[in-house]
Amino acid sequence: MKVQIPRGTQDILPKQVKLWQIIEEKAREICQNYRYEEIRTPMFEHTEIFTRGVGDTTDIVQKEMYTFLDRGDRELTLRPEGTAPVVRSFVENKLFGDPNQPTKLYYLGPMFRYERPQSGRYRQFVQFGVEALGSKNPAIDAEVIALAIELYSQLGLKNLKLVINSLGDKESRMRHREALINHFKPKIGEFCSDCQSRLEKNPLRILDCKVDRDHELMSNAPSILNYLNDESKQYFDKVCHYLDLLNINYEVDATLVRGLDYYNHTTFEIMSNAEGFGAITTLCGGGRYNGLVEEFGGPETPGIGFALSIERLISALEAEAITIEQEDTLDLFVIALGEVAEDFSVKLLYELRKQQIRADRDYMDRKIKAQLKAANRYNAKYVVIIGDDEMNNGKAMLKEMATGEQTEVNLDTFVANFKQRVTSREE
Ligand code: ATP
Ligand code: MG
Repeated sequence: MKVQIPRGTQDILPKQVKLWQIIEEKAREICQNYRYEEIRTPMFEHTEIFTRGVGDTTDIVQKEMYTFLDRGDRELTLRPEGTAPVVRSFVENKLFGDPNQPTKLYYLGPMFRYERPQSGRYRQFVQFGVEALGSKNPAIDAEVIALAIELYSQLGLKNLKLVINSLGDKESRMRHREALINHFKPKIGEFCSDCQSRLEKNPLRILDCKVDRDHELMSNAPSILNYLNDESKQYFDKVCHYLDLLNINYEVDATLVRGLDYYNHTTFEIMSNAEGFGAITTLCGGGRYNGLVEEFGGPETPGIGFALSIERLISALEAEAITIEQEDTLDLFVIALGEVAEDFSVKLLYELRKQQIRADRDYMDRKIKAQLKAANRYNAKYVVIIGDDEMNNGKAMLKEMATGEQTEVNLDTFVANFKQRVTSREE
């Protein structure tokens, strides 16, 4: 038996989990402030959801999906991203019929991609993402971007760069597409086989190629910004205007083409430019997709969203040497010596914990000295020592660990008095 974790996955051990929880709570709290509601979709979907929803010229669909047949011969795929499942659910559950529009959703959970593992790139990773469906007001593009930035900045990240672009509407994209084909066609033989097949299918994807990124034709490829029609240009200007109003700095980069096929108008990425971050600097990617809901059989509904991974967020925190205060304390460690005291402590702990008091005891038959050491390792605020003498006269010593101060306490009123003591300290 191979007692080893699968390649590209990681265990998040109790010590690290606290940080994850803080980040996840922060994400949920910000979503609540922006009125985005959580949606939970399954970990797997019918494969077509992704081949059609993400697009079959993307890396995700071409190389990265965990696809399998179940025992009933259904072709299923572990979700590699969250947008297609959310849109599937939006259509299937007719969320478009709800009077509260736009539908503002968020998700938080694991995604699976068969990738070459490296730092910041895992085969299972956790994405937090939002989708706003039903509005094509450019202010919501700015809202979605602001929400992502808010998460990073509330966690203390400073070295952030927001890059935005517009892919325009269908008409603009068609004209740009022609220009791209004309540009790349003469030398397409020098490009990787993926790009060769992208030329006719989706030439925009060539700009996103990681293999050919340094080819001479890349830097002078036709810029989408020169092909935007008036409506698309106005839309983009509005998004920029709102970001200006919010004092959110950004850079316009006409080569920013996101990995998914269904994007149009606004696309954006948030990167870390912290020194020492390493090769992968993109923390978050998103954009507008007007057409995906229809692709899944729903009514014409515009959408915008982003996805970011907690793994890369944590790498960015590390790169900026940001440590997040993690409360890891115990209110009380109970030391019981002798059988009667032990019986009492079993009940005592049960009652304490019912009262929201964080309490624990020794289960390893340690000597009293070793128990005090354990209490220290758990950052216990107080220790109470109960022996048979104490049981007889109904009183015990409560020791405050920080000061060493000892107080005699009554055992029969212990829980209520102790609760009062810890809550009054917290206020
Ligand atoms: P990349 O270009 O790095 O492969 P992508 O375009 O595939 O990214 P998206 O599909 O847009 O990424 O996913 C959004 C975000 O999810 C990324 O910006 C990144 O933070 C994170 N992400 C994507 N793939 C992984 C992965 N394999 N491991 C950890 N995080 C990831
Ligand atoms: Mg990728």
